[in-house]
Amino acid sequence: MPRPIQALIHTEALAHNLRRARQAAPDARVWAVVKANAYGHGIERAFAGLRGADGFALLDLAEAERVRGLGWRGPVLLLEGVFEPRDLELCSRLDLWHGVHCVEQIDWLAAHKTHKPHRVFLKMNTGMNRLGFRADAFRTAWARLNALPQVDEISLMTHFSDADGERGIAHQVAAFEAATRDLPGERSLANSAAVLRYGRDPAVRADWVRPGILAYGSSPDFPAHDAAHWHLQPTMSLRSRLIAVQALAAGEHVGYGSRFTAEAPMRVGVVACGYADGYPRVCDTGTPVLVDGIRTRTLGRVSMDMLAVDLGPVPHAGVGSEVTLWGRAGNGAVLPIDEVARAGGTLGYELMCALAPRVPVEVA
Ligand code: PLP
Repeated sequence: MPRPIQALIHTEALAHNLRRARQAAPDARVWAVVKANAYGHGIERAFAGLRGADGFALLDLAEAERVRGLGWRGPVLLLEGVFEPRDLELCSRLDLWHGVHCVEQIDWLAAHKTHKPHRVFLKMNTGMNRLGFRADAFRTAWARLNALPQVDEISLMTHFSDADGERGIAHQVAAFEAATRDLPGERSLANSAAVLRYGRDPAVRADWVRPGILAYGSSPDFPAHDAAHWHLQPTMSLRSRLIAVQALAAGEHVGYGSRFTAEAPMRVGVVACGYADGYPRVCDTGTPVLVDGIRTRTLGRVSMDMLAVDLGPVPHAGVGSEVTLWGRAGNGAVLPIDEVARAGGTLGYELMCALAPRVPVEVA
């Protein structure tokens, strides 16, 4: 018998969430962001649910090759562009669009003996201060690219730093508009939070939106709004089973460091899931978990291969009972990944991406 842990990828939910992006940003084309192995889902598995997108945006040539290997002939965008000059050759061969965010990338293009003109997304830094040209350098960069025979089409993009928060995006949209007003080319600005919160604004949704996390059913602005508020469905469920049950007397403890103490006699379930599976070690006592689809909580420290749960709310549970660490339980109950992430002081993004390779994954 294999160890009873498993991640399920819900392709119907991916397709549903993609439709939500289209509703929230009507008429915009959608780059489904599948970087980081489709936020931990597996590019091939995510593709099965997201093939209705207009294009796939990702990080590097290896991911691009995988998408092309699936038979996708439509647009593929390297969000950060190429990392060294020789990447440009494969870019041409794979027929990729690529981001251009620094002078070096323009120099590489200028020196490249290409047989096929490149389509680029010139990136403007409107305040994130991660990648892109500032306003004063943006137009010079555009003019240089425009003069290159190696470049066929220049589109324009920026990325929001606070679309999920109170600071919002107005200052970045204004900076982008001011710098690009009279330039031709398609535009792309919005990530998931901007799609859901501001996608009705044509200046925000522009020609292309770039949703990532919303496609994977996690709310980009949790806890202000949860996934149910945005009508998103979970796309990844992490499930395991109870492999032992302990009856604790009052005053006894659970796990390393004896960090949980029973106040009264209680039943404790031991789950085949630990931090080596990608479950956050910091999610000790109180993190929500579903046993047989019923909500309960973790107890004490998470160990490498196991964690403990309170069986108080599920007195019938025993060895073999289903445990849902996040996502959808067998009975349909949902434990949003965002709630687990919050208990661990992180985001749904990180939990999905951190799913350990040892966890078998199945398409549901
Ligand atoms: N666009 C760019 C340039 C990104 O780096 C990312 C992710 O970090 C996204 C879009 C998608 O962001 P989100 O997952 O918040 O929708």
